[in-house]
Amino acid sequence: MADDEAAGSGDSSQFDRAMMRLAIDQARNAWAVGEVPVGAVVVREGRVLATGYNQPIGSHDPTAHAEICAMRAASELLANYRLVDCDLYVTLEPCAMCAGAIMHARLRRVVYGARDPKTGAAGSVVDLFAETRLNHHTEVVAGVLADECGALLSSFFAERRGGRAGGEASAGTAAAADDGGIEVRFDDEAAQR
Ligand SMILES: [Zn+2]
Repeated sequence: MADDEAAGSGDSSQFDRAMMRLAIDQARNAWAVGEVPVGAVVVREGRVLATGYNQPIGSHDPTAHAEICAMRAASELLANYRLVDCDLYVTLEPCAMCAGAIMHARLRRVVYGARDPKTGAAGSVVDLFAETRLNHHTEVVAGVLADECGALLSSFFAERRGGRAGGEASAGTAAAADDGGIEVRFDDEAAQR
């Protein structure tokens, strides 16, 4: 688990990993308020512009994914709906909605951690970024700190399944799981809680 090397993407830079750690911190914020732990940061020229974490339940907003929250904050800061020269770091592969928003925002790069085999729109279910008729601006980097990003999600759902009534299940169990890195179990039923 301490291994930084993300399986399948050997060339993630130290800077990318540092930014992903910030995204992971954001994911922990989501967990702290009972949301599925996904976090994101928007970076431009080596500087963090904005952060966001998944919060659709608490905000009663189906679009309040981490990516959307971070992009919205960055756009407000820049007073520009286009996030040119910006990179988005997110702990989980973007869904189709977020992929669309990323394209509209003209982000330069998207760097994500864990794959999402159920709703991932950057290669897992579909690859909207490979569709040049939609967009040919945004570069995608996959698998940065995938183990840590995925372990957070696994731990979250394990805790949910473990029963929230009496206390809490140890969150440490899933972190020890060695699932080869990138695959993540993503439980939609639990996510709706
Ligand atoms: Zn999304």
